[in-house]
Amino acid sequence: MAVDEQPDEQPTVTMDKIASLAKRRGFVYGSSEIYGGLSGFWDYGPLGVELKDNIRRSWWRSMVQLRPDVVGLDSATMLPEVVWQASGHLENFTDPLAECTVCRRRFRADDVDNPEVCPECGGRLTQPRRFNTMFKTNVGPIEAEGTAAYLRPETAQGIFLNFKNVLQTTSQKVPFGIAQIGKSYRNEITTGNFVFRSREFEQMEMEFFVRPGTDDQWWEYWKEERLRWWVEELGINSAHLTSRNHEPSELSHYSKQTADIEYAYPFGIRELEGIADRTDYDLKAHMAGSGQDLQYFDPETGEHYVPYVIEPAAGLTRAFLVVLLDAYAEERLGPKPGDVRTVLRLKPPLAPFKVAVFPLSANKPDLVDRARRIYDSLLPHFPAAWDDIGNVGKRYRRQDEVGTPWCVTVDYQTLEDGTVTIRDRDSMQQERQAIDDLLAIFQERLGPR
Ligand code: ATP
Repeated sequence: MAVDEQPDEQPTVTMDKIASLAKRRGFVYGSSEIYGGLSGFWDYGPLGVELKDNIRRSWWRSMVQLRPDVVGLDSATMLPEVVWQASGHLENFTDPLAECTVCRRRFRADDVDNPEVCPECGGRLTQPRRFNTMFKTNVGPIEAEGTAAYLRPETAQGIFLNFKNVLQTTSQKVPFGIAQIGKSYRNEITTGNFVFRSREFEQMEMEFFVRPGTDDQWWEYWKEERLRWWVEELGINSAHLTSRNHEPSELSHYSKQTADIEYAYPFGIRELEGIADRTDYDLKAHMAGSGQDLQYFDPETGEHYVPYVIEPAAGLTRAFLVVLLDAYAEERLGPKPGDVRTVLRLKPPLAPFKVAVFPLSANKPDLVDRARRIYDSLLPHFPAAWDDIGNVGKRYRRQDEVGTPWCVTVDYQTLEDGTVTIRDRDSMQQERQAIDDLLAIFQERLGPR
């Protein structure tokens, strides 16, 4: 996070800088903005969808595709009331809400410094009441008994409901996991800090079913594995991450033990991912609610049992924020106030564009034509950017700011010997390479995908 190369520079990232870069460069826009916006909802722009998708793929690859013991799922985002009744969410998926008796503003009571006094006007706060954060709606044209449904506040329940389906249609045996990435919705009492806490967001969750009694070991395993992923795959500086076990009073209604992987955001240390030991709570709850038998039959021992579940649950949109924060740097290039470049040091597989291609001059048809052909030849292999506006220095700055790892410039020498310059985002060094070798060079530098 903005720890610059130069020893005399201080960390410089702020939420305002990230939000403004995200807006300016098309990563994230406020939702319904032309109508004044809707608090807690965000739209991901042309570069934002690419970055988010690259994070999603990294998670999917390491949690599903590289693991014979995990399979994927994409279940519905809206589930009937009976599901939430059975899972305990109707009763327990609540946050403590306190209201100011003077200005009438509402706060999450566990978020305010002084539980008695309004942080806005100093007025007295009411005793907190439990506020259910699920969004309720009605399915079908008639509002009647049995038509109430809720947008899911976590993706997990869709996994529990499909536990038997997956067992019957795959060759998985306990221990094994079911993973899914998708939207979740929470009517958060307060939103804020850009996309950190949104009312619509995406989660990357995996329910790992284990034999009861082995859950402690698997919980330890997943804590370590998930921390590894943030550092090695997403490139997050390990000094900005910590793992913290929940106090008993913090545990969710289904959890025996939970550890949070926390990140040092500019506004403080907060959760990035939770790794919970959900025990056999959910499967048993749905057995009771549905009357169906969701036990596992162990073919080796001939036993029937309800597995325990270890759940690593990360926010995709929160990961997106953390990737931006951690990659952001401002680097002083010279003595003048303007000699500063903003650079996103994204890991190349996460960068929205892998390469940008420039003709040295937009007015020289030979150069433009040659550069176009290179650009067209790279496009089928990975997202590439084209830029022929302003001078090359300015184009480098624009690409640095969105994290493009390499820029290829076609100049007069290209027309003579078929070589181009490749400029590296981080070192700013340039090297001369043959056009024919470009694809292989970039593929090698990007690694397996
Ligand atoms: P909090 O206590 O901060 O409300 P939580 O403990 O309820 O969060 P979990 O239910 O553990 O969160 O959700 C798993 C992950 O989903 C979180 O670690 C976070 O990355 C993400 N997440 C949860 N709520 C939101 C939200 N409102 N906006 C964005 N991401 C969220």
